[in-house]
Amino acid sequence: METDDGLGLSPRKVEYLKYIYETGVTVKTSRIADRFGVDPSTVTKTVDELARSGLLIHEPYHGVRFSESGREYAEFLLKRHRILSLVFTRSGLSGDEACREVSRFESLVSRSAVDRICRAMGHPSLGVCGEITHGTCGLDHDRHGS
Ligand SMILES: [Zn+2]
Ligand SMILES: [Zn+2]
Repeated sequence: METDDGLGLSPRKVEYLKYIYETGVTVKTSRIADRFGVDPSTVTKTVDELARSGLLIHEPYHGVRFSESGREYAEFLLKRHRILSLVFTRSGLSGDEACREVSRFESLVSRSAVDRICRAMGHPSLGVCGEITHGTCGLDHDRHGS
C-alpha cells in the first residue's frame, strides 16, 4: 500500500485521520468541516480519496469510519505525532508547543524512523496528548529478544 512507509499522505489527510480516530466510530463529514474550518464539499473530496485508498469507508449521509487497515494506520499516525512530540518536550518545549510544531512536519517522517526513535526512548506509553500504542514498532521483539 502507498502508505506503508508512513509518507503517502498529505498533512491535511493526516490531520483528518487523527481527528476521526479520536472523535468516534462514525464521524459526519460536516463535523470534520466544522473542526477544520473548511467547506463540507472539500472534506467530502478528501475523505473520498481516503476511501479510494482503502483507509476509510464513506457512507453518504451517515459519515466516515475506518477500515481495518485504516484504523491500524491511524494508530501509527497518532504514535508518530506523540513520539515526535516527546522528543520536543524532552528538548525544552511545552506540550502545546510540541504538538503544534510536530503537526507541521510529522507527515514527512517515515515509519521506520518513528519505530527506531520509539525503541530508543524505551517505548513510552504516554505522550503529551494521549496514549502511545506499540503494535508496529517491534516492542514484542525487544521483550523476547536478547
Ligand atoms: Zn499532540
Ligand atoms: Zn514503541
